[in-house]
Amino acid sequence: MFIFGRSRIRVTLDRAMTQGLLLVNFHYVRDPGLYAHPGIHPISPDAFRRQMEQLASCLHMATPDEAEAYVLHGKELPRSSALITFDDGLVDHERTAMDILDPMGIKAVFFVCSRPLTEHRALAVHKVHYLRAMTEPSRFRNELLAALPPEWRIRQLTAEERASAARTYIYDRPEHGEIKYLLNSLLPEDVLDQVTSTMLENRGIDERAFCAETYMDGRTLRSLEDRGHCIGAHTHDHRAVTRLGDDEDRHMALNIATLAEATGRPPNWVSYPYGRDWALPADPAEFCKRHGFSVGVTLTGQWVQPEHTPFALDRINTNEVDRVLSDHEFHRR
Ligand SMILES: [Zn+2]
Repeated sequence: MFIFGRSRIRVTLDRAMTQGLLLVNFHYVRDPGLYAHPGIHPISPDAFRRQMEQLASCLHMATPDEAEAYVLHGKELPRSSALITFDDGLVDHERTAMDILDPMGIKAVFFVCSRPLTEHRALAVHKVHYLRAMTEPSRFRNELLAALPPEWRIRQLTAEERASAARTYIYDRPEHGEIKYLLNSLLPEDVLDQVTSTMLENRGIDERAFCAETYMDGRTLRSLEDRGHCIGAHTHDHRAVTRLGDDEDRHMALNIATLAEATGRPPNWVSYPYGRDWALPADPAEFCKRHGFSVGVTLTGQWVQPEHTPFALDRINTNEVDRVLSDHEFHRR
């Protein structure tokens, strides 16, 4: 009776001291000095290593299995914990895993799109990043306008769109902000895809070779799984799930089948591309159940607690880590 009472108190105290689980996401992990212009905003491998050391000094580094047991079954974590995730299946992630995660014993989740693997066609988002990072902004603007289909080339932004561009891209000159707005908010996905392929082609870059240099292949995904990491779904071609329409079932089945073929098992986790509210399924539970996922992750919010729906978990970006840790006064142990 007495022991039972004591253990209950201890559990209560531990719970009170636990913030829960912090999912931290990464995109590019490479040397920022490779690029003359803005477009790719990587974290350097050294900064990545320092962030892993910082997180591991004050949090338990959860494995994907531990995180899954916590969010699905409320199985307690030893203390406040972090889970590392990577979006987009970039080659950077394999190097990062080999050089930094594996020696530190950290297991991560890698969310992968399938089109680069099955069709050797790059995702529009990465073609835009690359082209912008390699091109002086005015030249980029001219090249883009020249490559656009005629109906878009002559399309003038309305006064309202120009105002919206100015509000969104406060650090850019108006003409560059308007180009970003056109790329990110106005051009239909298929037009963006086509125009960026044309721009690569104009530079003599073969898209198949671009894919090989940008994305992990099936064998690499298998090797990550074999080393205790987890491969998750991220859609076939990185379209927001809210924009898949009638394509949704075919498109998700393709992503799942490609990853299952590479790793030997269908993915249990999904990361919604873009991760913000506008890009999340209207009913994440229904979406996950329909496609066979147990866990879905977003890019909103901060700490995950067991009462959180497992189908739309909070997750932060690497550049938010310092703020979140200082908010909660975590100290090095
Ligand atoms: Zn993504």
